[in-house]
Amino acid sequence: MSELDNDVAVIEVHNPATGDLVGTVPVIAPDDVAAAVRELRLYQPEWEAIGPAGRKHWLLKMQDWLIDNTEQLAAVLQSETAKPRVDAIVDSAFAVDILGYYARRAGKFLADDHPSPHSPLARVKSLTVAYRPYPVVGVITPWNFPLAMPAIDVFPALAAGAAVILKPSEVTPLSAVELARGWAEIGAPPVLRVVTGAGATGAAVVENADYIQFTGSTATGRRIAAACAERMVPYSLELGGKDPAIVLADADLDRAAHGIAFGGMFNAGQVCISVERVYVEAPVYDEFVTKLTAAVAALRQGADGRESEHDVGALANENQVLIVQRHVDEAVAAGARVTTGGKRTGVGTFFEPTVLVDVDHSMSCVAEETFGPTLPVMKVADEAEAIRLANDSIYGLSASVWTGDKARGERVARQLETGAVNINDVFANLFNPAMPMGGWGLSGVGARWGGASGLRKYCRAQAMTKPKLPTMGKELFWYPSDMNKLVIAVAAMRAAGARGMRRIDLPTVLRLKKSK
Ligand code: NAD
Repeated sequence: MSELDNDVAVIEVHNPATGDLVGTVPVIAPDDVAAAVRELRLYQPEWEAIGPAGRKHWLLKMQDWLIDNTEQLAAVLQSETAKPRVDAIVDSAFAVDILGYYARRAGKFLADDHPSPHSPLARVKSLTVAYRPYPVVGVITPWNFPLAMPAIDVFPALAAGAAVILKPSEVTPLSAVELARGWAEIGAPPVLRVVTGAGATGAAVVENADYIQFTGSTATGRRIAAACAERMVPYSLELGGKDPAIVLADADLDRAAHGIAFGGMFNAGQVCISVERVYVEAPVYDEFVTKLTAAVAALRQGADGRESEHDVGALANENQVLIVQRHVDEAVAAGARVTTGGKRTGVGTFFEPTVLVDVDHSMSCVAEETFGPTLPVMKVADEAEAIRLANDSIYGLSASVWTGDKARGERVARQLETGAVNINDVFANLFNPAMPMGGWGLSGVGARWGGASGLRKYCRAQAMTKPKLPTMGKELFWYPSDMNKLVIAVAAMRAAGARGMRRIDLPTVLRLKKSK
């Protein structure tokens, strides 16, 4: 968590590679957050009323804006994160992809359901389930993907018909401010507000919105869950991870080494689904470590300008560097070996891409989320030990399995306690919003996306019944109470719902009447 709090009026945003001041944003006070939510409530009914087709118009305009402003967005993003150029461009491409998916499919995903009645007796009614948005959804995001993180939750919530109040990380608020600028520039209805600030501003969002979509650390997620429980508002939490990779002896070791190097080092390891632990079957351990070390040592690290020259950038702030350094130092002190990297570069917040071997589960680099460019590697006797150790974690976000036998990969996957498993790849589930992305254990509650669920989670299901037949003056059960009618009803309900005529048990039903 940032040490900033709402006793400062302005947040200064610095480039972590250079320390340069790149922008300032105001700290929005809790009362102003409440006022912003009240205002959103005024505009939301019209946003809901224009329906998925009306909203699609605005969302696709926003998609055009994101495409047309890719260069500018990447520049802002690089300025506040020191990400490599390629990573900065991927952020907005990802936003464009998710936005298009939900804008185009919202009509289908939000269409009323007409479930079949559960019993022949219920066929007298036509049944409708309508999906009505929570009026105001609060989205609270971390600093690792300052544009994509807000976009991948804000646009589905807007597509669902909710108004959205977004509280970006105080570390990287500038990209979210750009999003708000884009929404205003296309002339869309004022149903998206960005409030900048630190924890107190986020807490005010939780105090005022009707649904909370949170991405961030497990510690903050726990506080938000408690605050939501107090108000009885629903929430979805996408939290930390410690993703294992399992390399089986029959794997293509070159692919596994390159894939795991990418999975561990992308965004300098600051991805919730970064590979953070590697288990390798004994027969291929030495060969794999050699290949992984070579792949990681070859990475080019540094600050990009408008050209792409580097693979790995800086860490987001000094606090992250301290965590990474502590994990490496504690491991080495306990007997681990660094095969490449292992220290800060001496410039800004850059930390060398690092491979650690001879590590075990007693070490912080294996037990705690690092969120940095380290890959601790462990030798295991066999598949069973790999599964047992992979599951030995408080987290359960995602995992990867590397094998030459896809059926074996799936068998292993089904024994892992994680919300996603990619076979012979990393991150692949993230680029498939037709599937849910959610963490198990302390990695989260609920999930984002998952096709229709990704919109319906922002909605309340409203059950409606309508008579199918011409209505009588009174229904069977309306007053006055009558034992004769009860006997008919009980017999009919037993016949329909309890294994047919055999369980009507007429003598007992008739005794009910006599006992009157
Ligand atoms: P963080 O929990 O410190 O902050 C996240 C957001 O919560 C920030 O906007 C912050 O201002 C806000 N916040 C802080 N206190 C709050 C409070 N009391 N009430 C409401 N809001 C509050 O997390 P971070 O350091 O910004 O991000 C890194 C973490 O995010 C890592 O643990 C990472 O694994 C996780 N993460 C998870 C996913 C996922 O999808 N599972 C994705 C990205 C990052």
